[in-house]
Amino acid sequence: MEIAGRTVLVTGGAGFIGSHLVDALVGENEVRVLDDFSTGSEENCHRDATVVRGDVCDSRALDRAMDGVDLVFHEAANASVTRSVDDPVESHRINSGGTLGLFERAREEDARVVVASSTAIYGDPTHVPVTEDEPTTPQSPYGVEKLATDHYARLYYELYGLETVALRYFNVYGPRQAGGEYSGVITAFLEQACAGQDITVEGDGSQIRDFVHVSDVVQANLLAATTDHVGEGYNVGTGRSVSILDLAELIRDLSGSRSEIVHIDERPGDIRASRADISKAREHLSFEPTVSLREGLGGLVRQPAR
Ligand code: NAD
Repeated sequence: MEIAGRTVLVTGGAGFIGSHLVDALVGENEVRVLDDFSTGSEENCHRDATVVRGDVCDSRALDRAMDGVDLVFHEAANASVTRSVDDPVESHRINSGGTLGLFERAREEDARVVVASSTAIYGDPTHVPVTEDEPTTPQSPYGVEKLATDHYARLYYELYGLETVALRYFNVYGPRQAGGEYSGVITAFLEQACAGQDITVEGDGSQIRDFVHVSDVVQANLLAATTDHVGEGYNVGTGRSVSILDLAELIRDLSGSRSEIVHIDERPGDIRASRADISKAREHLSFEPTVSLREGLGGLVRQPAR
């Protein structure tokens, strides 16, 4: 899927997913990035993108970034569940408030908005694989904020005719995913394996997750930018899952590490099973994930930095 000749804003374009989206868009489009660099970095930013440094909640920064755009990919957020638990007010300000302000500004430009929602809106799902009709019972402030985002996307289409699509990402991984305290499990396991440290599995490791490679997430976004099926939310995963213990073993094997796999306390409220049913995205967006977990992890082991 190619998009050309458009003026496009990627909020959070200095972050993990946003920077890959920018890479896919520059060249054929005028691309802007709005980012406050709270977790994003300069080195992620493509040099052909115009960077507006600022908070997505700041109306002046938003004005500069949104002026004349016809398409927005809204990735900027506090993406950490843990941080949302530590500071729910600040997380709400960015994730719900920031999205609402952006939708209002998008109405003025009549710009299509593709927003990053999350599997966190489902909480601990009652059925796996999870369809879009699964009840939404978020288990964290982050999940509540993403549920608000998802509903605002639908509502702005229904009330104001703004073309929106919400993409409910499952567990995204790939190059440039941040390490450190708030990193995803794949980055954490890779760091531990490569440093020869113990690989720490929370609980017995039987929890299952649907890991989707960032290049497939980029494709889902590009498809959402042109679909006729707007005002809808779509699961973005692979439809396959792996247990966390199997993931730890796979990462250890692929990286040739001799790390021990050790079990630590379960995270309170940890979700047992998560796997996307992607039939709706297949049908309406023609979305088809292409990167297997082994292939995606292999790429990270060979070239962890970019
Ligand atoms: P990330 O932290 O790498 O990217 C977020 C970007 O937004 C960063 O560059 C950060 O500096 C920027 N940002 C944060 N607050 C901002 C603010 N107030 N104003 C302007 N910029 C701000 O995270 P990511 O993993 O790339 O996540 C991108 C989006 O996808 C987020 O909305 C996240 O909630 C969502 N998501 C991610 C995953 C995943 O597995 N990574 C899963 C579900 C949903």
